[in-house]
Amino acid sequence: MATIQTIQKKLDEEKTRLQKQLATLSAEDPLSGDMTEAHESGEDATRTAAHDRNIALRREVEMMLADVMDATKRVKEGTYGKCEVCHDAIEPARLALMPTAGLCMRCQQREEKRS
Ligand SMILES: [Zn+2]
Repeated sequence: MATIQTIQKKLDEEKTRLQKQLATLSAEDPLSGDMTEAHESGEDATRTAAHDRNIALRREVEMMLADVMDATKRVKEGTYGKCEVCHDAIEPARLALMPTAGLCMRCQQREEKRS
């Protein structure tokens, strides 16, 4: 079982990695800052498509980042590793695979069925 310090370190590293990824993505966005200039002409359509892809990727990274922040908060509050729904301990194997997991396997499956 990983210690809380190891987990905290892992989460910090993940946070740094994701923030870097976000910065890279926003630097690569072909339409950053000039959204009002978007036209329907050929070249701009390509740029718009690349921009849309970029936005979608950034949204994904932002969601992962939010998960990391949530997990960091739980470490600080001392509730890390406990299921947010049933308050049982989350399976260690699951946490090893997904350090940001906030639900145990059972509750996660129930959530997925609902959506
Ligand atoms: Zn649970």
